[in-house]
Amino acid sequence: MESHPEVYLNPKKAQFFKGQHPWVLSHSLVQSTVEPAAGQVVQLQTTDGKWIGRGVYNPASRIRLRIYQWNRNLQLDEQWILQRVSDAIDLRDMQVECSSDRAAVRLINSEGDGLSGLIVDKFGNYIVVQYTALALRSWSDAITSSLAKRFPGASICQRMDEKTASNEGCDPFDDWVVGEAPASNISIEENGVVLSLELANSQKTGYYLDQRTNRIRAAQWMNAGSLLDICCYNGGFSLAAAKHSKIDSIRAIDSSAVALERATRNAAANDISNIEFIKADCFDYLESLTQSGELVDNIVLDPPRMAGNRHQVTSALRAYHRLNLSAVKLLKSGGILVTCSCSGRVGRGEFAGMLASVAQRVRRSIQFVEMRGADFDHPVNSNCPEGEYLKCFICRVE
Ligand code: SAH
Repeated sequence: MESHPEVYLNPKKAQFFKGQHPWVLSHSLVQSTVEPAAGQVVQLQTTDGKWIGRGVYNPASRIRLRIYQWNRNLQLDEQWILQRVSDAIDLRDMQVECSSDRAAVRLINSEGDGLSGLIVDKFGNYIVVQYTALALRSWSDAITSSLAKRFPGASICQRMDEKTASNEGCDPFDDWVVGEAPASNISIEENGVVLSLELANSQKTGYYLDQRTNRIRAAQWMNAGSLLDICCYNGGFSLAAAKHSKIDSIRAIDSSAVALERATRNAAANDISNIEFIKADCFDYLESLTQSGELVDNIVLDPPRMAGNRHQVTSALRAYHRLNLSAVKLLKSGGILVTCSCSGRVGRGEFAGMLASVAQRVRRSIQFVEMRGADFDHPVNSNCPEGEYLKCFICRVE
């Protein structure tokens, strides 16, 4: 067995790692005399010599060490990583044919697949590999080759965004390493809606696959009449509603002009003409509408992540409260509110509690008809509950 530098757990923190959480923050470690280099495989032990696991160190990152391997008898090497990659794809293949050139599917979901810091989405014949940490970058060539072998003919892009790179102490990158970047937008189909995606210059990997089933379930619950789709991005919820519900007028709001342009093109490509796209700030828009006295039949609220760390949870809950309060005030009795949070730090219970407090404030009843999460291709590791980031509650408001 290859030996690796050892790093030691602060004895006061050791008990936390019995639960095999893959993230080790700097304050959980005892300062080492020689600090391992970025990307180096290390062995984590307690100061009294108990084995914990093998992981990858990064002195620049808040998550100083990511643990991948808890079995002392197994090596953390290329072969082991590629086996995890292959297992992750096999899991998706149980639900969809990943190799299909129409499949839009998340192939690898970071901790949920035992590969902390790696996200891989496949959009037809284009695969976007997003590194959300430096840790697995040392194996990027091997990961790319194994994807290329499994999906011959697919083009593969590798990226790390600027914010992640600065947190991880490295340079950002965005390169097509296999095949060519798409010359123009590419098309995928979701719930009978054709969506055109621009994989370059996009948020995250290019599209939010996690809401796939939520979009159709939301549409199936919606009342006839009007819909406000707040933070619509490429138009996912609006387009599903236009296609699969009795809604006749939709206003879709986002602060990003680029996202709205794409959403507008998507509507046209599906012959949908009853959506008005509006560039606005979600808080201002909803609050000014509540002043107008207008009431609507359905609202989708899908704001961006509000809490990036635990210190931001209180302010995030306040922001969610503010948005949801305005939304509930705008809904007719019996109206449908589809309200989402993609802040992993905000728990399901806290999110539900925030809605209870909104209900009390306006003295109306909010019924959770479906409490949903991310779709099947976003598995969660029981030891890393932060991976269960998405809440999507479909509510009926009395
Ligand atoms: N509902 C979308 C995903 C939304 S992602 C879907 O189904 O795919 C969050 C969106 O919120 C992004 O498109 C982002 O541009 C937008 N956004 C961020 N801050 C905003 C703000 N203050 N007001 C309105 N939109 C905002």
